[in-house]
Amino acid sequence: MARILVTGGTGYIGSHTVVELMQSGFEVLIVDNLSNSNIQVLDGIEKIVGRRPDFAQLDVADLPKMRELLEKYTDIVAVIHFAASKAVGESVEKPLLYYRNNVLSLVNLLEVMKERGITNLVFSSSCTVYGQPSKEHLPVDETAPIQPALSPYGNTKQINEEIIRDEAHADSSLNAIILRYFNPIGAHPSALIGELPNGVPNNLLPFVTQTAAGLRKELKIFGNDYNTPDGSCIRDYINVVDLAKAHVVAVNRMLKVELRDRVEYFNLGTGRGLSVIEIVDTFEKVTGVKVPHTIVGRREGDIEKVWADPRKANEVLGWKATATVEETLLSAWNWQRHLSE
Ligand code: UDP
Repeated sequence: MARILVTGGTGYIGSHTVVELMQSGFEVLIVDNLSNSNIQVLDGIEKIVGRRPDFAQLDVADLPKMRELLEKYTDIVAVIHFAASKAVGESVEKPLLYYRNNVLSLVNLLEVMKERGITNLVFSSSCTVYGQPSKEHLPVDETAPIQPALSPYGNTKQINEEIIRDEAHADSSLNAIILRYFNPIGAHPSALIGELPNGVPNNLLPFVTQTAAGLRKELKIFGNDYNTPDGSCIRDYINVVDLAKAHVVAVNRMLKVELRDRVEYFNLGTGRGLSVIEIVDTFEKVTGVKVPHTIVGRREGDIEKVWADPRKANEVLGWKATATVEETLLSAWNWQRHLSE
């Protein structure tokens, strides 16, 4: 049986991907230090799938421990690397922490992969590498220029992409698929796993659901004076289960066909841009629950508008986002209600 090593597998996107992998017949080994996730996620995965993934609580940046662990697993055919710190604001405050967590861990991971003869890597990247694309590059495809990062977090994604490219150039046995996510939202339809933000959420959707649940007084909409139809920022919100499925497709692609390039890049989005105000309105409409909100000033570093041209992923991977934003928002609300039970 083929096993996939999933770093960060108890996290938000990681846990949904573990479910899809296991439901596709893969065995999974999760490595996670639980710095931003909860061990009970494993119970949710087990309830959905009917079996439990193997789990090791450790830091990918801990090279000796990773070596020791992987000596026990001889059936790993690919690695999906999610484990990373992801709070933009925190990365500005603590850049060294971000370079240690996000960059050192990838270097170590590539080293142990080489030692163990594991040659397939799927890497979690982000549309943040494109910055604010120019008008000609909207919707943004994979050929759009990479722009200087606006935060240490964004920089770690760019540096990691470069590290993978350099290593694949040096080591012709390494294959990598780099997935650039747009804005993942929603939760598993079972409401047994979902996003578990620590403290006050930075991201829009958990803030919306927590406000709807009465846990926060009101949502602050950061700016209505952008150059967009309603003045609020535009993003490409992608259902997390759709996103998770793309990882299974990417793994199968690496195992079954020769890649066009040994490092391939794919934008994972829906192709549709929605504004913050549209998200709030649609959430209220599908759930019937009000989200008290006010407009406040712009948030520093926010991109005005970005959405994906997902055609390369559609055509080459044969993957497409299928969930509607309505069902996705409802899944986020069902998850919030499950948390509040
Ligand atoms: N946003 C907002 N209020 C919040 C959180 C986010 O208005 O409390 C807006 C934010 O300005 C951006 C959009 O929602 O336009 C998505 O923000 P998020 O942090 O979720 O993702 P990112 O900025 O990384 O795309």
